[in-house]
Amino acid sequence: MSFPTRTNAIDFDSARLQRFGFAAAHSPAPQPLNYEQLQRRLGLQLQTSLEADKILGMFFNSVQQFIPLNALNYKHLGTDLRLEFGERSRHNASYCMTHEGEQMGELVFHRDKRFTEEELSHLESLLASLLFPLRNALLYRNASLSALRDPLTGAGNRIAMEQSLTREGEIARRQQQPLSVLMLDIDHFKGINDTHGHATGDEVLRAVADAIKDRLRNIDQVFRFGGEEFLIVLTNTGRESAALVGERLRNAALQLTYPVDGRPVELTVSLGCSTLLPGESPDSLVRRADTALYAAKRQGRNRLEMAG
Ligand code: GH3
Ligand code: MG
Ligand code: MG
Repeated sequence: MSFPTRTNAIDFDSARLQRFGFAAAHSPAPQPLNYEQLQRRLGLQLQTSLEADKILGMFFNSVQQFIPLNALNYKHLGTDLRLEFGERSRHNASYCMTHEGEQMGELVFHRDKRFTEEELSHLESLLASLLFPLRNALLYRNASLSALRDPLTGAGNRIAMEQSLTREGEIARRQQQPLSVLMLDIDHFKGINDTHGHATGDEVLRAVADAIKDRLRNIDQVFRFGGEEFLIVLTNTGRESAALVGERLRNAALQLTYPVDGRPVELTVSLGCSTLLPGESPDSLVRRADTALYAAKRQGRNRLEMAG
């Protein structure tokens, strides 16, 4: 026997929920009357987002209803996250936040007038409402970043690579600037695994990825294309400059002295380089770099070949 299920409808924008601070953008909630109300409202409002910039933006705007501020800066070293709201000024109050031994970042409030003791004490109690929303946002950010990263080398993964190539291809077309890629493959890598074991192979892969990252500009990006192959996306870089970067990476691999059993493992890499042609798709750009890489392999390895 089955009973009919009763379904209740709930409108999340209805007045009852708005009272608790879940107001829709077009109908702002009334001003809180005191710190307790503000704190309660913040506690609910900050749960409405998983993005650190939205959470801190809401916090900055709400706190100003009682404590005038010129700016709020936030920095989380672990994830390289930096956010700025407003314009910095002379006086500041800074808080290093930790929870159960975990770093949650540093917050700095700025303004042109000195903070009173009473204001600082209120700021500190309002900061408590940031704890769980901010912790969740940091976890979410970490999970999102991990989903785009190769766990062994820390380089971007194939999903990140596809996204980057599409984005960079569009920028290159719209702003009429060059775009080049390098396909890099470690020579005779199978031999390293066979001679020294897979774990050492993994270490060497990590060392090569680090050496590549160290020799690029901040805006260049490295992706693990496959086993021991990396794709390097060089923003706003034409053919000649890309060739110089390729040579720099080839030399970096030669100088890499990864020690195994007290002796350095000798490494060489081969590279293929291509530069975006007018109207060309990112897939075709990568394919041409790959073809150039195979030409480099055929011609004896430890060399850079330019796509035709
Ligand atoms: P070539 O100079 O022609 O590139 O020769 P190669 O030996 O580097 O190339 P091949 O494609 O024959 O072998 C690649 C090897 O890379 C085989 C595979 O076991 C190894 N490999 C792929 N992924 C990993 C990994 O994550 N860790 C380790 N240790 N080895 C890997
Ligand atoms: Mg190889
Ligand atoms: Mg390979």
